[in-house]
Amino acid sequence: MSVVTFSSGPQREEAQAILTIDLGALAENWTLLSARVEPAECGAVVKADAYGTGIEAAVPALAKAGCKTFFVAHASEGVRVRKVAPQATIYVLNGLLPQSIPTLIAHDLRPVLGSMDNVAAWQNVPGMRACALHVDTGMNRLGLAPHDVAGAMSKNIAVDLLMTHFVSSEEASDATNDIQIARFAAIRNAAPHARTSLANSSGLFLPQKPYGDLVRPGYALYGGNPTPDQKNPMRAVVSLEAPLLQIRTIEGGDKVGYNAQWTAKRRTKLATIGIGYADGLPRAAMATDIRPGGEAMVAGVRCPFAGRVSMDLTVIDVSDVTDAALKDARAQLLCEEITVDDLGLRSATIGYEILTRLGARYHRRYI
Ligand SMILES: *Cc1c(COP(=O)(O)O)cnc(C)c1O
Repeated sequence: MSVVTFSSGPQREEAQAILTIDLGALAENWTLLSARVEPAECGAVVKADAYGTGIEAAVPALAKAGCKTFFVAHASEGVRVRKVAPQATIYVLNGLLPQSIPTLIAHDLRPVLGSMDNVAAWQNVPGMRACALHVDTGMNRLGLAPHDVAGAMSKNIAVDLLMTHFVSSEEASDATNDIQIARFAAIRNAAPHARTSLANSSGLFLPQKPYGDLVRPGYALYGGNPTPDQKNPMRAVVSLEAPLLQIRTIEGGDKVGYNAQWTAKRRTKLATIGIGYADGLPRAAMATDIRPGGEAMVAGVRCPFAGRVSMDLTVIDVSDVTDAALKDARAQLLCEEITVDDLGLRSATIGYEILTRLGARYHRRYI
């Protein structure tokens, strides 16, 4: 049985969608990944408010499971992690911004240096404080060029982690993975005393086992599938349900929603549910006459969206749900049958974006 440990966000109200975050499942996912990579250490990426689940709830749950190293994108996120994980090692991925140096020092955050400018700026900080060095092995986004690593290591900086990031680790057969692993191996000796880190969630499932000393899973911790071509080995962490605000029956040929983009093919029973794009449900999940959209589960029945997703409302086709079952039912947008990956796919995006856009208007329950 699940126990609600605490809740946050707006007060629970009848008109409102409810987001449930299973901290037990989050901890279990971390434990599973940690066992997979032993003896390497398993960290946790908690940027973007722990992928929408809430830093203040997710980090203590992960720390309790045994996680000691956290990665964030911004220094301000690191400050929030430090408040709830006083002992943790915290790396800030987005490089070193000069204005953030006092914050990094005050909260004992380690920057991930990604350019020679970053290296020069950190070198001037008194006390040789620990930092990571990010090597770009193919992403062309952040990180030093491999040929700059030796030069960076000759400066007066204390690099305790040498890392790189995969371009397409979710595609196990992509040759880019091998190329990146080889490029990283070629510069590894330039920083012989630093620990190494290559793998994000999907990197943990590559046949090459590129674990290094420390892995950096994010998405998989929150229930996303790190192996998109195979069954998801992770437990779902986030579920989302919305109230049925109104039921109506329309005739074949009647249209639904803004700009009348969806036409009923038969007599159709509709439910209007209290969730829309202002809550983070992508507008691209709309259903029109030319393409199907998202789905919701109502009383165990899969119900397709009908028409456009509006700001606060979405209409679904509940023709296959009996009137008796509709009474007191709620629509589930994310649940066992509909994963973040599924909703991403039906919204022309990825589950990552679904998670990180989870709205502020939900009543949040942590179990
Ligand atoms: C976001 C991020 C991760 C985590 O990636 P997932 O695919 O969510 O596991 C790891 N490393 C870096 C550098 C990142 O930016």
